[in-house]
Amino acid sequence: MPELPEVETVRLALDKIVKNALVKKVEIYRYDLRWKVKDNLKVNLEKDILKKPFRMGKYILIPTIKNKILLIHLGMSGQIKIQKKNHLKSKHDHIDIVVQAENKLTYSITYNDPRRFGFVDFFNKKDIYHHFLLKNLGIEALSKELTVNKLKPLINNRKKSIKNTLIDQRVIAGIGNIYASEILYRAKIHPKRSANSLSNQEVDTIIKACRFILKKAIKVGGTTIKNHAQPDGKLGYFSQKLKVYGRAGQKCFYCKNNIINMLITKRSTFYCDHCQI
Ligand SMILES: [Zn+2]
Repeated sequence: MPELPEVETVRLALDKIVKNALVKKVEIYRYDLRWKVKDNLKVNLEKDILKKPFRMGKYILIPTIKNKILLIHLGMSGQIKIQKKNHLKSKHDHIDIVVQAENKLTYSITYNDPRRFGFVDFFNKKDIYHHFLLKNLGIEALSKELTVNKLKPLINNRKKSIKNTLIDQRVIAGIGNIYASEILYRAKIHPKRSANSLSNQEVDTIIKACRFILKKAIKVGGTTIKNHAQPDGKLGYFSQKLKVYGRAGQKCFYCKNNIINMLITKRSTFYCDHCQI
């Protein structure tokens, strides 16, 4: 499942293509994604000019010169492919946006999603903070806004576990299941600790771990794009060197005890019982 670093990697790749690109053609092969794609997406998006993409949580947002926003959500298995025009349609390609980039070359931006938990939307820029996917987003995980002073009051009354809190997009936007385990392992905080039991110092350690883990992952993603551009143009998935996630039964890097996998609200949570308190 793509998390913030994967989404940011896709955004960076799109940035090179879509800035000032003219939308020449939009093909929609399937409307029934996680939510129904608007009927008028094709008509409204064609002939518009895209601007620099930005990210909110795990959503990619591409503004246009007509003051609209194209939103891309990769969901569980969504991928963006940037390909030369005249590519063959592959299985699970649902939307094709053909653009003429600033350099006059034509590219096809394809939304591919086997499980169709993702979404593509197009709406007026002025409605951005009312959009149903964006209006409840919490503090951006990589922004300067994420501080102890801002975060502590949001979690002071939460009896739920810190693991559960970290992946709640209404509290912090951008952390998913994989990186929540990685962040808590680095911060040496037990995932089951209730959020309101954490001291200021511990919250600060989690925030620092969050920045470190996400930034490192984005760096790996960037390297992937530069050095290993995949022939099919697929973006958004790259192998991370994870320290704890997926390592149940293997030795902890700090203390050599075995890593444990525990379900917290039905989601796998990996941790070291000895190091994380
Ligand atoms: Zn350990």
